[in-house]
Amino acid sequence: MAGTSDKPEARSLTFTNCQRCGGTHTDLVFLPLANAIDEWRWWSLCPATGQPVLASTPEDRPAPGIAALLKDYFALQKQIHDALGYREDWAVIPLDDRTASFWLVSQRESGGGFVVYSERPLTEETVRKGCVYSGTIYMQRFLPKWVYRTPTHTMVCVDTHIDGNKFLMVFDNAKECKDAALAGLYRDCWGEV
Ligand SMILES: [Zn+2]
Repeated sequence: MAGTSDKPEARSLTFTNCQRCGGTHTDLVFLPLANAIDEWRWWSLCPATGQPVLASTPEDRPAPGIAALLKDYFALQKQIHDALGYREDWAVIPLDDRTASFWLVSQRESGGGFVVYSERPLTEETVRKGCVYSGTIYMQRFLPKWVYRTPTHTMVCVDTHIDGNKFLMVFDNAKECKDAALAGLYRDCWGEV
């Protein structure tokens, strides 16, 4: 519900899902309730039925408390883990949204290997000049695997070797570079770390 106020005591609101008729009323004028007990602080009359309706605006609603935010935060993280087929075990590794990056992963049979990523498409030139970020696959010992592929996204457990940061980097499959020659070039130029 978006609103504008012309007089301080009245508000003109675009009122959707009207409690009386189910419709939308554009620029319906609301007045403040004299004795509001919750966030439903504004009253008006449904133009279709002539019966009373109540409205609340975003600023009338209390901001969620820290406990509620934490609950939502971890529930959302669990949903992302589940969608990627990841199950946290002992070590806590933060998610890192790399869906805007172009990327490649080179993984050995042993599970180790490296990732290379960049805001720009990976080319021989950018790899040769080192205009890319990289990290090694972090083979965290409690995890059964370190690369989690889904049809749309791939998550790689990465050790950045910078300030101790390790991440679950989530990449967009549409931006994956599958050119094994580029991965080989990166290894030749920069090693694996
Ligand atoms: Zn109505």
